[in-house]
Amino acid sequence: MGKVTGFLEIDRRDRKYKPAADRIRHYKEFVIPLSEDATRDQAARCMNCGIPYCHNGCPVNNQIPDWNDLVYKDEWEEACRNLHSTNNFPEFTGRVCPAPCEASCTLNLDDNPVTIKTIECAIVDRGFKHGWIKPEHVKHSTGKKVAVIGSGPAGLACAQQLRRAGHEVHVYERNAFPGGLMRYGIPDFKMEKSLVERRAGQMTAEGVIFHCGVNVGVDIAIEKIVAEYDAVALAGGAEKPRDLPIPGRDLAGVHFAMEFLPQQNRRVSDEPLHTNEHILANGKNVVVIGGGDTGSDCIGTSVRQGALKVTQFEIMTEPPVKENKLLTWPDWPLKLRTSSSHEEGAERDFAVNTVAFLGDESGALRALKCVRVDSAFQPVAGSEFEIKAELALLAMGFVSPVHEGMLNALGVKYDARGNVAADTRAYKSSVDKVWACGDMRRGQSLVVWAIREGRQCAAAIDESLMGATLLPR
Ligand SMILES: Cc1cc2nc3c(=O)[nH]c(=O)nc-3n(C[C@H](O)[C@H](O)[C@H](O)COP(=O)(O)OP(=O)(O)OC[C@H]3O[C@@H](n4cnc5c(N)ncnc54)[C@H](O)[C@@H]3O)c2cc1C
Ligand code: SF4
Repeated sequence: MGKVTGFLEIDRRDRKYKPAADRIRHYKEFVIPLSEDATRDQAARCMNCGIPYCHNGCPVNNQIPDWNDLVYKDEWEEACRNLHSTNNFPEFTGRVCPAPCEASCTLNLDDNPVTIKTIECAIVDRGFKHGWIKPEHVKHSTGKKVAVIGSGPAGLACAQQLRRAGHEVHVYERNAFPGGLMRYGIPDFKMEKSLVERRAGQMTAEGVIFHCGVNVGVDIAIEKIVAEYDAVALAGGAEKPRDLPIPGRDLAGVHFAMEFLPQQNRRVSDEPLHTNEHILANGKNVVVIGGGDTGSDCIGTSVRQGALKVTQFEIMTEPPVKENKLLTWPDWPLKLRTSSSHEEGAERDFAVNTVAFLGDESGALRALKCVRVDSAFQPVAGSEFEIKAELALLAMGFVSPVHEGMLNALGVKYDARGNVAADTRAYKSSVDKVWACGDMRRGQSLVVWAIREGRQCAAAIDESLMGATLLPR
């Protein structure tokens, strides 16, 4: 259980960031890992609670107290094995997971949770450094063929699990490289893309066959894939962005976040942009509309590109800095969160609604017209204001998967929110031989939820194809 008195003796310590003034000069990761000794000390703080709330807080149900204990006892290789028994890609979650496990940790009752995410990241990074993480070659073949559409965390986890169960697995991906939003959405400074390449390499060595640059529904009919394979897993994400259809929306300089961010990720990877319209923030006043993760990523990217000023608007009122633990614990609390990108120099404003984009005579954005709103989003009389901006980035979330093309051609049923309808036991869509997981099934979510769904969907497919499954859920 870590050290019995560890939580009494050792203070919480977490990874720090390199100084903002340095890190904004490049797109590399800037989190400084804890030393081996410090990581072991932090693991020693785990109390091995009778009811490990962290375990439930973690969507992939990582066996957190177990690997904390193993790290404390210096049994890192076993900790790495244990970690991979529940999470295919801990190096992703160890970097970009918001760590709901730490919100659930009993020590969070007095704001000092175990640094679970940091320990997870240390275990897997050490595993790769020491060569403990190798391709797992499957020794038998079931003779069944499965197609996975989409190579985000859901598709990758689903494909890896199915391959390890002995199926022939083909992943179809529209983009040039695998990874989904981990590659084209999340900026390199949060997670470098070599990590995604390393995992895709492991999966290729295990026998997963990637077909990149293939847009299913355009380059190849989905009906053909369904006919050729024994099972098809839809893991295409929730890519339809929420728009802001107000006057001036068509001005030059108003873009969706997911038009802006993938361009920078491609520049960092030396990938062609496939467009002449370079969306850049350098020398501009930038307004980011939307206060979530995507908005934060737009801030960090704009700052690195050399924006003059970055302002972020959120329509909701400002949440409290500190949650009421007795009301929220062990659940994920709504509170003010300050990301590393915010610390790099953005101004944040809450309870603001944008009512028009204002342009100059050439049709380019010059300002936003805004109004303050109350908690029911009603405009506050007399609170209208204008803010100068040459670039506005819409980061207001995603509505649903894109229906046009592959999904409509397939004729799958949608749930009330427009996601592919399938439950979390069978993951089966309304169409024969077709399953769905990740954001395409649950709507816009998190990397860790996508991994969970990919794993569980793989178990459901394996069970359906073979009559029984040994894959964990
Ligand atoms: C900018 C941004 C930042 C984020 N930051 C974080 C974060 O810090 N932490 C976190 O946990 N989550 C974050 N998220 C959310 C997270 O990235 C997603 O929840 C997760 O990637 C969903 O995984 P997925 O596999 O379901 O779908 P995606 O990652 O969306 O992958 C879907 C893949 O399917 C492919 N595809 C779709 N249709 C087809 C087709 N017809 N043919 C072939 N291929 C197709 C797409 O090209 C894509 O590669 C962020 C999201 C965004 C947009
Ligand atoms: S995957 Fe996320 S929730 Fe689970 S242990 Fe890691 S950081 Fe915590």
